[in-house]
Amino acid sequence: MGESERGFLKQWACPACGSGRIRPHREGTYAGRLTRDDVKITDSHYGQTWDLSLCLECGHLFADPCPTPDYIFSLYGQVEDPLYEDEAAGRARNFLGILKQLESLVPEKGPLFDVGAATGILLDLARSRGWQPDGIEPSAWAVGVAAAKYGLSLRQGPFESASLPSDYYAAVTMVDIIEHTPIPYEAIKKASRMLRPGGVLALVTPDIHSASARIAGRRWWHLRPAHLAFFSRASLAALLGRAGFTVVRERRYSWTFSLHYLLSRKRASGLLLKNRRLASFLKTIRLKLALGDSFEVYAVKDKRA
Ligand SMILES: [Zn+2]
Repeated sequence: MGESERGFLKQWACPACGSGRIRPHREGTYAGRLTRDDVKITDSHYGQTWDLSLCLECGHLFADPCPTPDYIFSLYGQVEDPLYEDEAAGRARNFLGILKQLESLVPEKGPLFDVGAATGILLDLARSRGWQPDGIEPSAWAVGVAAAKYGLSLRQGPFESASLPSDYYAAVTMVDIIEHTPIPYEAIKKASRMLRPGGVLALVTPDIHSASARIAGRRWWHLRPAHLAFFSRASLAALLGRAGFTVVRERRYSWTFSLHYLLSRKRASGLLLKNRRLASFLKTIRLKLALGDSFEVYAVKDKRA
């Protein structure tokens, strides 16, 4: 990446595969500066993207110019997102599937590190299933919730620059993280260093070529200012391979949300949700969205990595 004093960097190579064969692809629809509300998990600015470039080698789509790591990490440090905890039950259901997959792939349960642990929902569940929970989260608010609600002591700060043990963890989880970081290779390489031999990385990220992405077009819910990159199967494989991983299992990821949460994504339902009794009833209805528009990938650290 090149230098810029305005918090944005021009990309000179593909952030996924490292190739220099990149070209401008689509002009952005997001002209503003990012705020902490733009990057919170429950942000609903769907359909907005940065200027995107395309890698001619692996098909990766990425923000170019891209907000700098310092700029992005300082925003995530300030995030407060009470809506996220409203959906704790649904999110735990999503994470249960991931833990079951990991348990069928690792030789033995042990320390599990969650990158971007948010309020600790995944780690709380992992602990109840016999894993030793560890994780990092940039938001001071989220780290506070994890301590108060689940008794978890998360590390606070950006993962990419944190000092963490090598060859130690049985599993590393990165659920909807890699599309948020300006430096995905550094993040994946770090996960590879942290894992013990035979350790497994579980990674979830939106699939830009999925059917729902094509049907929704520019209104696809994963097109939002906080997403700095859009992976395809090829670009994800290139990134993981370059960082010393072999993909051993791939699934489609489905989300569980309450009907209340889904309606709250649409501005027109605002009035409906002002009715308190109706709103709390809608929170009890859980829907599994079989959109299958994200990759759920499990990768083993290569012996030579
Ligand atoms: Zn590439």
